[in-house]
Amino acid sequence: MNELPTFEDVAQAAARIEGHARRTPVMTSRTIDEEFGAEVFFKCEHLQRMGAFKFRGAFNTLSRLDASRRRAGVVAFSSGNHGQAVALAARLLGMPATIVMPHDAPAMKVAATRGYGGEIILYDRYKEDRERIGRTLAEERGLTLVHPYDHPDIIAGQGTAAKELFEEVGDLDAYFVGLGGGGLLAGSALSARALAPACKVYGVEPELGNDGQRSFRSGAIVHIDTPKTIADGAQTQHLGQYTFPIIRRDVDDILTVSDAELIEGMHFFAQRMKQVIEPTGCLGLAAARQMKHLLKGRRIGILISGGNVDLARFSQLL
Ligand SMILES: *Cc1c(COP(=O)(O)O)cnc(C)c1O
Repeated sequence: MNELPTFEDVAQAAARIEGHARRTPVMTSRTIDEEFGAEVFFKCEHLQRMGAFKFRGAFNTLSRLDASRRRAGVVAFSSGNHGQAVALAARLLGMPATIVMPHDAPAMKVAATRGYGGEIILYDRYKEDRERIGRTLAEERGLTLVHPYDHPDIIAGQGTAAKELFEEVGDLDAYFVGLGGGGLLAGSALSARALAPACKVYGVEPELGNDGQRSFRSGAIVHIDTPKTIADGAQTQHLGQYTFPIIRRDVDDILTVSDAELIEGMHFFAQRMKQVIEPTGCLGLAAARQMKHLLKGRRIGILISGGNVDLARFSQLL
């Protein structure tokens, strides 16, 4: 294991992705400010390239590979957004990419990954072990495995979104970030501790997949079966060797929300803010809403992590 990444790594990642990743906008909403009695800032990573923050970590990681690894190419296993991110970053950097995806991944994510030039291998997410499939491919074909969350370069890349937010809006009292395997939350916490030390940082999970909350509270990484939730970007089974210690040290708490609360979030974003947000992208808002009585008069950050959802699925959920 390498050393844990630091904010210095986030700052270097920010320099590496500059001009390749978008500096996404920060949106506000009068309606939500009134509902909360607070000032709320949404960091809009659904407007990132390929529609989610994952492009940041993927591009940062791939741009650090040496020439021989670049020639051989990369492999990623992903419920969708990480696969798209690796496929797109690989194309921009001129490397071949193989993506291992669940057979029931949203059709739009599969099509987009193919569109970015990735070779796709499908597997059954309830029966097969995607990590083993990815590792076997890496060994057999000499590919570099790009982990979706548990690598210092991924964590550093994901942390650049929070760095941009704090640089743009200044100090915040609380920041709500969706949690799957924890690359996004760990990176966000590194930026928060460096740029807004008093800001409370909350990770947010689907309640049926609360392994992160149980790990955070017990002090040891808890493994669960693939949770059944509409938040397909947060269907991870456990936190990582790198993400967990950073989360334990720098995050204030882990909260959970129901699928119904995620749908309310999608509805709010579409109706009031005219934004199409995927279920996983609504984790932050849903948790902030649960505790809004504690947030009166405060300055709140909410990360919108992604917007990749089939329109047919979107309307069905609403
Ligand atoms: C991957 C993903 C997450 C969770 O990120 P982790 O780094 O795995 O915790 C949250 N939202 C969306 C949209 C994602 O694609």
